[in-house]
Amino acid sequence: MNVTVDHDRCIGAGLCALTAPAVFDQDPEEAVVVLLDETPPEEARSAVAQAMDRCPAGVIHLR
Ligand code: SF4
Repeated sequence: MNVTVDHDRCIGAGLCALTAPAVFDQDPEEAVVVLLDETPPEEARSAVAQAMDRCPAGVIHLR
């Protein structure tokens, strides 16, 4: 599984970090998403897919 995020379009809502904290964090100053793991294990797929669905900016992509 490969995860990418478009940092430039992130609006800092933070739902990704709440939904899949092993994969996403938020920059403490700018609040934009920080991708902690670009290739998370398959066990994380459901949490990452949920984060992708919840992201209001639609900037999380999963392959
Ligand atoms: S949920 Fe989307 S908009 Fe919000 S911080 Fe995460 S990537 Fe950015």
